[in-house]
Amino acid sequence: MTGRLHGRTMVITAAGQGIGRAAALACAREGAFVLATDIDAAKLATLAGVVNVATQPLDVLDADAVRAFGLAAARIDILFNCAGFVHHGSILDCDEAAFDVSFALNVKAMYRMIRAILPGMIECRRGSIINMASVASSVIAAPDRFAYGASKAAVIGLTKSVAVDYVTRGIRANAICPGTVDSPSLQERMRAQAGPDGDLDAVRARFLARQPMGRLGTPEEIAELVVFLASDESAFMTGNAIPFDGGWSNA
Ligand code: NAD
Repeated sequence: MTGRLHGRTMVITAAGQGIGRAAALACAREGAFVLATDIDAAKLATLAGVVNVATQPLDVLDADAVRAFGLAAARIDILFNCAGFVHHGSILDCDEAAFDVSFALNVKAMYRMIRAILPGMIECRRGSIINMASVASSVIAAPDRFAYGASKAAVIGLTKSVAVDYVTRGIRANAICPGTVDSPSLQERMRAQAGPDGDLDAVRARFLARQPMGRLGTPEEIAELVVFLASDESAFMTGNAIPFDGGWSNA
């Protein structure tokens, strides 16, 4: 199989559903060998039999497991850190435990994965690291996204820092900043906000109202940006945080 990622090896976190899964499929289609990881083995099972995709359960909150994963990994050319979590609420709704959960999954897990994979990339003098941020971060603020916005802004800072430190050693690092994407967890959040007898259509309309284009993004659209950032087509890009948001940050 040939393609823009032919011969490249890639690791994706949170590849069991949503954007991570769509990225696994898109990158495999472009010829990468994709190791799709997720905490949820049942979700990974939906990738069984896909050409160029292997799966491995991995909880990115488990420091020992990530360290062991890095030591056991063969050469990795591309790392897509996709795992993340949305806490709903303002600063006064976010106690210390909730704050820590958001930063552990959205930021520290990326730090951990990069420390596990980067040394091998440096040895090969080649690597593309793609970190999942959000347009709700340092790009724009979104109401009731205090811990999310703060932690996704940290992802952008983390990405820029890695990019500047390794730019002369063949390593690139970029962040993706999507608007609202119609993924399984978004559906769940909409149902949770609507409540048992709530008006799901009204909740959905609120999410749609944030998007000037009048529609949500799809995981497959975001996956195309992952392919681009993983491939040599983006060889001149590093330290960039790329909004991909249906015009939200332009409103
Ligand atoms: P999702 O939230 O539907 O799926 C998340 C996946 O993460 C699940 O498969 C889950 O099993 C896995 N996961 C949870 N905890 C994990 C852990 N500790 N270790 C490994 N895997 C774990 O996916 P999504 O909505 O496509 O979001 C993916 C990423 O994109 C997140 O970082 C999210 O913040 C970001 N993002 C999403 C949107 C959106 O609107 N959906 C917008 C901007 C950014």
